[in-house]
Amino acid sequence: MSSVSYVNGSYVDHSEARVSIEDRGYQFADGVYEVFAVINKKIVDYDDHLNRLFRSLKEISLDTPIAKDAYLVHIRNLVRKNYITNGIIYLQVSRGVASRDFKFPINTKPSIVITAKRISMENYYEKFKRGIKVKITEDLRWKRVDIKTLNLLPPVLAKQEAIESGCDEAWMTDANGYITEGSSSNAWILIKNKLITTPTSSSILKGITRTTLIRSLKNKNIQLIEKRFNKKDIKKSSEAFITSATQFVMPVIKIDNDKIGNGRVGKFAQIFRESYMEAIQLK
Ligand code: PMP
Repeated sequence: MSSVSYVNGSYVDHSEARVSIEDRGYQFADGVYEVFAVINKKIVDYDDHLNRLFRSLKEISLDTPIAKDAYLVHIRNLVRKNYITNGIIYLQVSRGVASRDFKFPINTKPSIVITAKRISMENYYEKFKRGIKVKITEDLRWKRVDIKTLNLLPPVLAKQEAIESGCDEAWMTDANGYITEGSSSNAWILIKNKLITTPTSSSILKGITRTTLIRSLKNKNIQLIEKRFNKKDIKKSSEAFITSATQFVMPVIKIDNDKIGNGRVGKFAQIFRESYMEAIQLK
């Protein structure tokens, strides 16, 4: 069965879904996006993702093409039309279609595209048991990666570099050797039972999963330190993991050539995953 996507006001067969070659998303990466996980037909952390979308829109001076309430209607419709129990909703808003010119077009309606795909929670739990490997790469992105823009070439190249060396994710380092974040995730390590993650700034995306996990750990006797960490700190860590809307909490068992802990998924990763799942009411 073919899937259904939403493009500028219409629900269309995914294979027929089109935007113009003059779309500024295509020409300039001039747009923003969000990714929502769907678990048991429930949209995970919906308000937080939508609010971040509206912040991203504001930061690039782009008006929403539809009312705020309409987003939920369309997302729910796609979940239903695509028979999704567990899946991912991808939503992007670009500055619309206009003859190619750097300056903002006048009277152009932004384009909105929403797509849906299924994911298997069984695959997630299997992957969790194995853990993932991370490669350290250079962070080549622009200075406003707190905005979730379509400008994704540097993380695409970082992820590819990781894949080509047999890893699953890239952790990117700034000019001073500190890890900013993963190519599409936030980065965490555990040293002496203290949880460490990079503080939010314009140099990382403030992950919704990150925020929810931190909130979920509030009453749990876990010491969280938001501070920068580097390769030396990684060598001292007993566990590491990533968070993102699509990976939830995913343990890291190796970074470059160094095994983390004993090279197997540690007990804290499990605790953090359960804490997160509990917070989104999916334990
Ligand atoms: N950092 C980057 C660079 C990302 O692309 C993502 C995934 N969107 C994240 C962090 C994690 O954010 P979230 O938990 O909101 O998916």
